[in-house]
Amino acid sequence: MTKRAFLELVSGLVGWPAFAPLAAWAQGERLTNWAGNLEYGTAKRHAARSLDDVREFVRKQSKLKVLGTRHCFNTIADSRHGFLSLGELGEVVALDSAARTVTVGAGMRYGQLCPYLHEKGFALHNLASLPHISIAGACSTATHGSGEKNGNLASAVRALELVTAAGDLVRLSADQNDEAFRGAVVGLGALGAVTKVTLAIEPAFAMRQWVYEDLPLAQMKEHFDAIEASAYSVSLFTDWQGQKIREVWIKSRTENGQAFTAPEEFFGAKRASRNLHPIAELSAENCTEQLGVPGPWYERLPHFRMGFTPSAGKELQSEYFVPRAHAVDAILALEKLRDQITPHLMITEIRAIAADSLWMSPCYRQDSIAIHFTWKQDWPAVSRLLPVIEKELGPFGARPHWGKLFTMEPSVLRSRYERLPDFLASARKYDPQGKFRNEFLDRNVYGRG
Ligand SMILES: Cc1cc2nc3c(=O)[nH]c(=O)nc-3n(C[C@H](O)[C@H](O)[C@H](O)COP(=O)(O)OP(=O)(O)OC[C@H]3O[C@@H](n4cnc5c(N)ncnc54)[C@H](O)[C@@H]3O)c2cc1C
Repeated sequence: MTKRAFLELVSGLVGWPAFAPLAAWAQGERLTNWAGNLEYGTAKRHAARSLDDVREFVRKQSKLKVLGTRHCFNTIADSRHGFLSLGELGEVVALDSAARTVTVGAGMRYGQLCPYLHEKGFALHNLASLPHISIAGACSTATHGSGEKNGNLASAVRALELVTAAGDLVRLSADQNDEAFRGAVVGLGALGAVTKVTLAIEPAFAMRQWVYEDLPLAQMKEHFDAIEASAYSVSLFTDWQGQKIREVWIKSRTENGQAFTAPEEFFGAKRASRNLHPIAELSAENCTEQLGVPGPWYERLPHFRMGFTPSAGKELQSEYFVPRAHAVDAILALEKLRDQITPHLMITEIRAIAADSLWMSPCYRQDSIAIHFTWKQDWPAVSRLLPVIEKELGPFGARPHWGKLFTMEPSVLRSRYERLPDFLASARKYDPQGKFRNEFLDRNVYGRG
């Protein structure tokens, strides 16, 4: 994809009328997700221009889905009826330096917010591998970065505003509606249209990033905790072959006491002397700066740079969360499947995420590691492999990423979310007729169909 095409894509406005008549659908030719593996059930969409527009539009529809930046690989965002985009409501609404929060329109992307925050002297605690995703869409699916002390991106949410199925505006905050709030942040698009999000911020910080090559698997097994604890954010990339982790990405804050000393050798891995892509064969041109060059937090926390096509493009993704305590056992269980996995794989990434208190987060009350797979775009092969992986991870109670591909039986998935009944009660309160429900939610969350 060319840079120009990418910028058009991330603007979220390709083919979307800037001045659509109020409460009207716009019909494009076809609408796909970012990876192109999914054509949505309709191309009917409406780009909201104001909160009143959102409220009126939602009130008038009998069925719809809110669409973010379309980065999910599965059908969680899909609709056969029509989409509402809040991409035009992507402005900073308020920066409260004293309270250390920023409130943004829900359509804003991290890549838009971060430079603004940095200029004002603030930072977010963490970012995903790419900055191109919408804040509301990312938080709705519990999108995460890495770092054993860092909760997922949704854990930074302090308040949100939601337009319910009736078109009412509800404000929920960590301070005032503790329980209801915890149920709504990872909302899976099931509760309504999130129109504003308030995020916790902290003073801006600088980071350095290093990549190490060829960490022996035996070292990972013996020293997993020390490796994870070595820096603010650690990612392990493997193709599961050769009894080694191919790359270890270390992102370190430069403040006193947090700095990684970047020895030449790290648990048997060698410090790279050039910038690398997570898939070593690909050009590192679209990757964030490495080699210990200091830079602002938002240009080091993601692996991919804003303004370039992230990741590999034509790909599929799956990811499973297991309790941190079972990290090594889970990794070794999958390593046994290496000859089944590798032919279909571009790369696996292993990350640590701190526990949170958000009901539908895969890290609910559980420090976790996430084992991620970027697959070649061959769904028939991947769909045969996922049940094998899910079976192997079954003893660890694995939970799949809400926005990525999985084949787990809904009854199994549902049984792994202890707060699911509470979540369903919330969803029924805000959306009694199932206006925001789609087939994905019916099957995996409501347990119907
Ligand atoms: C190249 C690539 C890299 C990725 N890297 C990571 C990573 O590092 N870590 C990670 O955890 N995930 C990662 N993901 C997955 C991605 O972060 C999630 O799929 C995320 O949900 C994408 O946000 P979106 O805005 O594109 O969501 P969409 O796909 O547009 O929507 C996702 C869900 O959010 C709902 N939603 C969106 N906006 C609203 C709103 N305003 N109100 C209510 N509901 C809403 C939708 O209805 C849907 O249910 C990656 C994906 C890609 C393609």
